[in-house]
Amino acid sequence: FEGMTILELAKRTGASIGSLQEIMKNVGEKVDSEFDPISVDVAELVAMEVGVNVRRLHSDEGAVLQPRAPVVTVMGHVDHGKTSLLDALRQTSVAAKEAGGITQHLGAFVVDMPSGASITFLDTPGHAAFSAMRARGAAVTDIVVLVVAADDGVMPQTLEAISHAKAASVPIVVAINKCDKPSADPQRVRIQLGSEGLPLEDLGGDVQVVEVSATSKIGLDKLEEALLLQAEMMDLKARIDGPAQAYVVEARLDRGRGPLATAIVKSGTLLCGQHIVVGAAWGRIRTIRDMVGRATESGRPAMPVEIEGLKGLPMAGDDVTVVGSEERARMLSAGRKKKLEKDRLHKASEMTIDIPDASE
Ligand code: GDP
Ligand code: MG
Repeated sequence: FEGMTILELAKRTGASIGSLQEIMKNVGEKVDSEFDPISVDVAELVAMEVGVNVRRLHSDEGAVLQPRAPVVTVMGHVDHGKTSLLDALRQTSVAAKEAGGITQHLGAFVVDMPSGASITFLDTPGHAAFSAMRARGAAVTDIVVLVVAADDGVMPQTLEAISHAKAASVPIVVAINKCDKPSADPQRVRIQLGSEGLPLEDLGGDVQVVEVSATSKIGLDKLEEALLLQAEMMDLKARIDGPAQAYVVEARLDRGRGPLATAIVKSGTLLCGQHIVVGAAWGRIRTIRDMVGRATESGRPAMPVEIEGLKGLPMAGDDVTVVGSEERARMLSAGRKKKLEKDRLHKASEMTIDIPDASE
């Protein structure tokens, strides 16, 4: 996106060069020739003014890449044990042990393996969260853990989860849960999944299957190993240096500390003191906390961090963009709010509602 010019922006948005230059003047930018490069922030501001949605493309071409942890989402049919499995996995984390089993609820947690490797789990199971994030362009999840109860077998939401993962091209690792139950029939689950077109490892495919029990804590280490193996095959890497790009997984308002956003860093390093725009909100990072609430100087790729210092409440799926100054942050935030309001009004203008007329 770097190297964008007014000329290029005119081509892409269909707006005239003159009108774009006028907008640049209005947002307080010096208007040079239409061939001169403009910054990505200014390009976004101008594009939003003419009603065009902007997605920032991040290229790490030429950057030094380092291995990073996989980010995992748990999906599956209701009552098949998603929440129980996440609870059990959370308890295997070193941080949880250090903190006496108490971790604050951040929307994500990290399991550190004895080998030094780690896995980041998103704490919101379910398809709604996954789809909402994806619809907003946030490709956060690297691997889906598909939880299937060994007694119940494949159910409608199991199939839904498979199609969500497939649509997003996210590989699946199957966890057949509740294997402690006398009525468990994991073999039947394998056959069902196979006939639904999931190429299971046992049947010559590449989808790993692990038998677990969330409540009896059986097979959790096997599941973690399977996830690391899957991650290894994917060769997940990220740029460590330079400005961070991150996604919000959860946001809430704390009465004392103000808006708090949990974000997962995709690339680069997030630093205290930086000015950021998060969706339509903006702020300056006052504190970064890790999953046990320790204040830390920075957030690195695949690390869930809690960000304090925002002026507004962002939404899950919003992207975190580091900008150069408070003025830039304010401006982009204002531009995005205006665009959101415009879109809302546009949608409303296409809507018709029925109102009973009581005067008759
Ligand atoms: P979710 O709706 O997928 O999040 O499912 P939950 O984690 O809430 O679990 C639904 C029910 O199944 C709860 O009563 C759990 O205690 C039970 N459950 C979950 N995992 C297991 C398991 O491994 N074995 C047994 N026997 N019960 C389980
Ligand atoms: Mg649940």
